Amino acid sequence: MAYRPYFKHGIEQIQALVASSHGDLKALKVIQYELGFRDRPKARALKTEVDELVHRLSTGTAVHPSRPIPPPSPSHVMAPEPQDVQPPLMTPDRVSVECANCKTPNFVSTLEGIVQHLSCSACKSPYEAQFKYGVLRTTFQAAPITKSNNNATKWIFVGLVVLVIIALMAK
Ligand SMILES: [Zn+2]
Repeated sequence: MAYRPYFKHGIEQIQALVASSHGDLKALKVIQYELGFRDRPKARALKTEVDELVHRLSTGTAVHPSRPIPPPSPSHVMAPEPQDVQPPLMTPDRVSVECANCKTPNFVSTLEGIVQHLSCSACKSPYEAQFKYGVLRTTFQAAPITKSNNNATKWIFVGLVVLVIIALMAK
């Protein structure tokens, strides 16, 4: 490259050329070549700048105005949360109730607010069940051979605690 089209250009003119040739690798290389002949500090500083521009254009890392680099894809951030999370107010169709008398598990459907008159599938002890505010309340009648009423009340309380735990775990 012996041809020096900017041989007679002043440094200010070359600076203007550089400013108007950003992105034009061919033009910048000619300017770079021309600046290689100049020893003034201004010319050396400009050559450093042009070297950098040429390097960026050659390696394709320049952010060209006509070819902007798209922003990093935020797809993984914008992705909706998995839909398999249970709705907070969902309740199971049925819950297991342990018979207060024989400990046999009985399934009770969770009908909101309705008192269900049921009986144990094993010992036939009658009991009432009412599902209200997300908690199943059961009332077992005392077993035929209950010794004390106090004992039956204790079992009702224990059964209620178990049911609350079941209801909480089922959510
Ligand atoms: Zn029973």
